[in-house]
Amino acid sequence: MHDVVIAGAGPVGLFLAGELALTGSRVLVLERDQEPTSPLKALPLGLRGLTAGSAETFYRRGLLEAMAKASGVNAEKVGADPEAVEPPAPRDLSHFAGMALDATTIEAAALPFRLPSPAMEGFMTSLETVTTVLAEQAAALGVEIVRGAPVTAVSQDDEGVAATAGGQEYRARWLVGCDGGRSAVRELAGFDFVGTEPLFTGYVAKVTFTDPQQLPLGFNLTPNGMYLRTPFEGHLGMMDFDGGTFDRSQPLTRDHLQTVLRRVCGTDVTLDEVHFASSFTDRAMQAPTYRRGRVLLAGDAAHIHSPLGGQGLNLGIGDAMNLGWKLAATVHGHAPDGLLDSYTSERHPVGASVLDWSRAQVAAMKPGPNAPALRQLVRDLMSTPDGATHVYRTTSGLFHRYDLGHRHPLIGRAAPDFRFDDGTRLGDLMHRGQGVALDFSTDRALQGAAQGWEGRIRYASGPVRNDLGLAAVLIRPDGVVAWAGEHASDRDVFAKVAAQWFGAPEN
Ligand SMILES: Cc1cc2nc3c(=O)[nH]c(=O)nc-3n(C[C@H](O)[C@H](O)[C@H](O)COP(=O)(O)OP(=O)(O)OC[C@H]3O[C@@H](n4cnc5c(N)ncnc54)[C@H](O)[C@@H]3O)c2cc1C
Repeated sequence: MHDVVIAGAGPVGLFLAGELALTGSRVLVLERDQEPTSPLKALPLGLRGLTAGSAETFYRRGLLEAMAKASGVNAEKVGADPEAVEPPAPRDLSHFAGMALDATTIEAAALPFRLPSPAMEGFMTSLETVTTVLAEQAAALGVEIVRGAPVTAVSQDDEGVAATAGGQEYRARWLVGCDGGRSAVRELAGFDFVGTEPLFTGYVAKVTFTDPQQLPLGFNLTPNGMYLRTPFEGHLGMMDFDGGTFDRSQPLTRDHLQTVLRRVCGTDVTLDEVHFASSFTDRAMQAPTYRRGRVLLAGDAAHIHSPLGGQGLNLGIGDAMNLGWKLAATVHGHAPDGLLDSYTSERHPVGASVLDWSRAQVAAMKPGPNAPALRQLVRDLMSTPDGATHVYRTTSGLFHRYDLGHRHPLIGRAAPDFRFDDGTRLGDLMHRGQGVALDFSTDRALQGAAQGWEGRIRYASGPVRNDLGLAAVLIRPDGVVAWAGEHASDRDVFAKVAAQWFGAPEN
């Protein structure tokens, strides 16, 4: 029997599988599709933007270089200049309803607790690239992936779960539905899914145009919707405010796409051929809880929204990073009470705010007299340092703060990439998915206390380049600060917080 069965070998399922396998959990992934790649995952249709937050997540698992390289991005471009200033200047590119954020307007000093790191900015990649890199990593860690195995039945009892796929029943102690926006696991396990109905149908297509010069490159808002032409030849995106009424089970014909394109762009542009196409909507729904008994949800299975602003994949990677170590601790029997349920309480609000961010963009793009006025207001605000900083803080994936009690303003935030004088960085210490205790004291004050969690917490000490006024920091396996001590001699406080997140000590 496996410890965990994951339904879906998309980016979220594969990353979660790796997180669990890092701790020695036995993981099986059941994937509906036989083939790992498809034209919808490859460029140009599979084009996806990773935020700096996701880059940081991959960095912390030693995957950033491979991910950047496979995405055709120079890893140095993603990383920090060794002489970089502190706080580092934000370099991420975001937009709100097609209005680009000017990184030079962002106030770096207003973004607390950032240090230069090899993961300084997001980058463009493809679904195919992300899943290929993550599948290789998962396989190297011993994860078993069965393809051509759609999950069609789920049941659970006190001891475990059973998932039926391809006529075979697979038993495990836990099941995680990472099977996308139309999740079968979500439905079969009886999760609710609530939210708002769509205003538009969106399309992405690889086409051949007769007269592409009629359509300017970039993000074009029109009185009837939006269309996007990227530098990839024949790559077209469209938003048609039809109330989301297009029947998405019907095939996407050249005639239909051409009618929509002409309506949206207002010219008589002609499509010669449609090579591949798919549709989506701005339906924004979320499961009120991400756990029912022994079944959990992550990624699009837990929340859906429009792709505006490129957040869904990043949100799902964040879910997996948050869930992986908590589920692993539960599997290995050392999770403190309530740890697994903190997955929903921490991640649901993050998902809800992404759904709202996407809804706000739809409101600012909806044809009619109101949206241009709203856009002007947002444009004006985004051109101020406070406004630009707010947008960056919201979209970069680096600044969310979980409510962990907040005794110090760093607690609950993503840990800064502390760098020891010997060049070792926090990120280097996190590859194995353990918690990390950083002790900046000269007398290794916390070493004895940290020994109780050997294997669960990795201890490192020494002087760092910039300690941000701290003597010690305890970091959860997902990179979130659990404790920030001004006195490393606060061993009792350290031990209390360590037990709260990592369970009882060994001795
Ligand atoms: C046009 C477009 C552009 C986007 N751009 C961005 C972007 O720039 N940045 C961003 O962050 N997000 C973006 N997104 C969203 C992003 O693609 C998704 O949020 C992300 O792919 C979700 O990952 P996932 O692993 O949760 O689900 P998926 O990627 O949907 O993977 C689910 C997997 O489960 C499998 N599956 C389905 N049913 C079953 C079953 N019953 N049993 C077993 N397996 C099953 C599927 O075959 C699939 O492999 C975009 C989306 C679209 C449509």
